[in-house]
Amino acid sequence: MIPGFVDELEFENVRLEEDDEGFFCIHFKINGMEYELFCEGKDLPYEICHSSIPHECEFCGPNDDDTCECLNVFLDEIYVKLKEHPNIRMKLLFMK
Ligand SMILES: [Zn+2]
Repeated sequence: MIPGFVDELEFENVRLEEDDEGFFCIHFKINGMEYELFCEGKDLPYEICHSSIPHECEFCGPNDDDTCECLNVFLDEIYVKLKEHPNIRMKLLFMK
């Protein structure tokens, strides 16, 4: 693990989208590239995917994979950072 890697990421356009089954997804951008972090419930993050099309990722490079292997290494840390974001914090607070 690279110390401080997650602290240096700048998350933009952070928003949370819920589905009917209690799952939710946090959308965010890093350097203009879009990602989605899927959660199976509060504090149960399970995967970060590329959502820019085509998949161009400064961490993985150009690729065809939905999963961002590079950011997934830091899944828990990234989730903790996103949770602190004002757009997310309030929503999570009221989520069961
Ligand atoms: Zn990637």
